[in-house]
Amino acid sequence: MAAATDAHLSLIAYGDVVAGCERCALARTRTQVVFGSGSPTADLMFVGEAPGFHEDKQGVPFVGAAGKLLGKLLEGIGLTRDEVWICNVLKCRPPGNRDPLPDEIEACEPHLWRQIELIQPTLIATLGNFATKLLSGKPAGITQVHGRPQQVVLGGNAVTLYPIFHPAAALYTPRMLQVLEEDFRRIPDLLGRPAAPPPPTAPLYVPDPPVEHPVQLGLF
Ligand code: SF4
Repeated sequence: MAAATDAHLSLIAYGDVVAGCERCALARTRTQVVFGSGSPTADLMFVGEAPGFHEDKQGVPFVGAAGKLLGKLLEGIGLTRDEVWICNVLKCRPPGNRDPLPDEIEACEPHLWRQIELIQPTLIATLGNFATKLLSGKPAGITQVHGRPQQVVLGGNAVTLYPIFHPAAALYTPRMLQVLEEDFRRIPDLLGRPAAPPPPTAPLYVPDPPVEHPVQLGLF
């Protein structure tokens, strides 16, 4: 319990530091830094791309439609958002939800490395292209490598990297949602936990039309 408390305090302290970060130009256009949310001692970490409109307003990652789908997918394998850590490669929203720029990723990546050092997850699920390429250190895109665990060393620890599609990519594409569900079902096994319960028969998530913010092509 003491170790858990220390990890929590260290993460909160680091979050306070990052809240004032001005390492890149996104500091001028953001509403607030979106540091991450969940358990400071999580075995499983999700890393997405960047905060969107709702995340920027609320200061919490994955709270829009893609976030609701992520919550449902977690529920489907017997986990809650409070049991995992959820964050992004970039901690500030790019204007108009455009793709992250290389210099922004370079400026922000120390924050992600530090989060990994403090939380020490055993499994990191990268959501989409940007997180997958950054954390694997390889150019292969998500379409090629999704669902295939890789062994890497991050934050000084051996970690299983598990690339999967970004939930935003599956919101309006049933085939993509099916692939995402299949990839999610392997997570309990990768965590060394009992198999997840059978998937629900009803659709996991039916999005509300119209599309409020366009899906970024970089997610594929
Ligand atoms: S995106 Fe990252 S590096 Fe840029 S200002 Fe925000 S926290 Fe700092």
